[in-house]
Amino acid sequence: MTISEHVPESNVDVLIIGAGPAGLMAACWMAHCGVTTRIIDKRGTKIFSGQADGLQCRSLEIFDSFGFADRAWKEANHMIEICLWNPGPDGIIRRSDRIPDTIVGLSRFQQITLHQGRIERFFLDNIKKYSNDTIKVERGVLPESLEIDETEVEDQSSYPVTVKLRHLTDEEATPQQQISGSKISDGLFRSNLTHTDDEDDLIRKNKSRAGTGEIVHAKYVIGCDGARSWTRRALGFELLGEATDSIWGVLDIIPITDFPDIRMRCTIHSTENGTLMVIPREDKLVRLYIQLKEVTPDASGRADRSKISPDSIFNAAKKILSPYKIDYEYCAWWTAYQIGQRVATRFDSHERVFLAGDAVHTHSPKAGQGMNISMNDTYNLGWKIALVAKGIAKPSILSTYQSERRKIAQDLIDFDHRFSRFFSGRPAKDIMDAEGISMGEFKEAFEKGNLFASGLSVNYEPSNLVSKAVGESKEVLSDATSSANAFTKQSLAKGLPIGMRFNSFKVVNQSDARPWHFQEKLRSTGQFRIVVFAGNILSPPQKKRLEDFCEALGAPDSFFRTSATSSPPLDAPIEVLTIHSAERVETNLMDFPEILHPYNPHTGWDYDKIFVDDVSYHEDTGKAYENYGVDKERGCVVVARPDQYVGWVGDLEDFKDLQRYFEGCLMLSLRA
Ligand code: FAD
Repeated sequence: MTISEHVPESNVDVLIIGAGPAGLMAACWMAHCGVTTRIIDKRGTKIFSGQADGLQCRSLEIFDSFGFADRAWKEANHMIEICLWNPGPDGIIRRSDRIPDTIVGLSRFQQITLHQGRIERFFLDNIKKYSNDTIKVERGVLPESLEIDETEVEDQSSYPVTVKLRHLTDEEATPQQQISGSKISDGLFRSNLTHTDDEDDLIRKNKSRAGTGEIVHAKYVIGCDGARSWTRRALGFELLGEATDSIWGVLDIIPITDFPDIRMRCTIHSTENGTLMVIPREDKLVRLYIQLKEVTPDASGRADRSKISPDSIFNAAKKILSPYKIDYEYCAWWTAYQIGQRVATRFDSHERVFLAGDAVHTHSPKAGQGMNISMNDTYNLGWKIALVAKGIAKPSILSTYQSERRKIAQDLIDFDHRFSRFFSGRPAKDIMDAEGISMGEFKEAFEKGNLFASGLSVNYEPSNLVSKAVGESKEVLSDATSSANAFTKQSLAKGLPIGMRFNSFKVVNQSDARPWHFQEKLRSTGQFRIVVFAGNILSPPQKKRLEDFCEALGAPDSFFRTSATSSPPLDAPIEVLTIHSAERVETNLMDFPEILHPYNPHTGWDYDKIFVDDVSYHEDTGKAYENYGVDKERGCVVVARPDQYVGWVGDLEDFKDLQRYFEGCLMLSLRA
């Protein structure tokens, strides 16, 4: 910036760089938690077609917790079955297997497909609603420099990250997205085959005009600026890993074909022509992922992009699908990419600047993981930053972002290695063909892969947010984890593994008899939840146990009282929900201690906090205790973190340990 130029300066709690799925998920948390936030993107618009399209069960559970899963669920194509096609003894492809797309019973949602642009739209609407329009994506804005004042990073009231921003013209913010003479949206401009970093160029041009600069001082910065992340480069972090030789083309078309499984998810291995993956989409669209056998990288490792066009990709698809015929009139989008599997060396600097999404991991898109894992990164990070920025949680919880998510990124790369090998290899001719891929193994890998891909196998390690022993032993935990004792009573709720997401079963509202999936009550408000499995409260000794627990909870010095703030919407950072196992018709709301269904002088009792594991009129209920592995007489207590992961399991008598859990992660003493 020139010295004579007046450069406006401002402070903000959170600055998010990049408004793709990862950045929008972070902004969504900030909107729901009421944190002052800015989100910038160098591009002039969100994307309208192409890129990611698969939404996994866990992502839908998360969308539901923010209140917009129904929009995606209604608009999307539902993926129910996978068909595996392989060459028969005569070399002609035939269907060899069918398997369910989502493992049965894993979640209340199944995998769906809908393009990334719609998902970004749902986020934008939700952010607008919950932030009262105060958080808006500022488009055509990019960072020029980033500095962290290391002397200030320990001071929670400081704004130690200084970012210089540049405001672009509409023209500068619009990438060249269409190949000349074609009306088809071309994703090559963002593909790793052709993409070049344009930030330096944009900033140089922009600097020559006055009034385009701005300085922002932020408490926290989240770099969600994609695979070529400027933020990552500014921090000097690297992506480690490798690119493979496989080049894949992607076409989003409305196919005209006699192939019978075109509305199923299919993998089609041909004998000599490579592999094709069919992904049915919304509005009759089908995405084809096609291995481009005729395009190989040169000595420098880069493929010749001039050989790649919608026609060349489609011709490759036709060969694989033969003897079936396929044609199309409408193509919505196309691209090509080279598989690169990389993970960043670090995910944060000084726990003040964080990286998320493609900025810290890249891999092949066929398993539908890119967008999902990227959103899950910031779903993990967003509430932590929000609670620390609001002075509710201890800054030490921020280190769990890297410890929890870097492992997932590494698992993703390992998964992708295996998955890609199965996709890119040719089918084995017979049992002696060691270089070929056995189709039995392929099916097995696919089935196992589906669990990982669903996002529901995530199991976070011990920390001050996850109170469990390391392995079977109760080792003393170090660093971020030192404040947690390794208290663990997993056996009280075997169906709620500590470190995994709170599974959902149906329960019935005590007050109005309406059945709910319990997860619907774990909304993303930024609140921790204490789920009291109250057991059989018709038994006097059990009722006494519950009353003693509630008395401890209500004491003036309990974590429940001392965590309260005067900072809405998070004035009550902990919510208590109860599921009991006595018969609903034999019990009443008033039988329960008041703290479990609090009274408001203006609106009366809270009728939405006490649930029962009992039969209902129209739905299959009454199996929650059994499925959660909780004793129906004695119950137990479970803590769900704001992101629905189980953090602690104990008995009704273990109040002191519960108090210690919250002392380990929340700023209780300051307000006590
Ligand atoms: P992105 O979606 O890349 O978002 C990054 C955002 O940051 C963009 O809006 C960008 O404009 C902005 N930005 C970049 N640099 C700056 C800067 N310096 N300053 C300000 N803003 C900046 N995944 C699948 O699951 N299935 C697929 O079929 C699939 N196909 C893909 C095809 C292509 C060509 C690409 C590029 C990706 C594809 N992906 C696919 C991956 C998926 O789109 C990503 O994993 C997902 O979008 C990652 O989300 P993100 O928010 O981390 O990054």
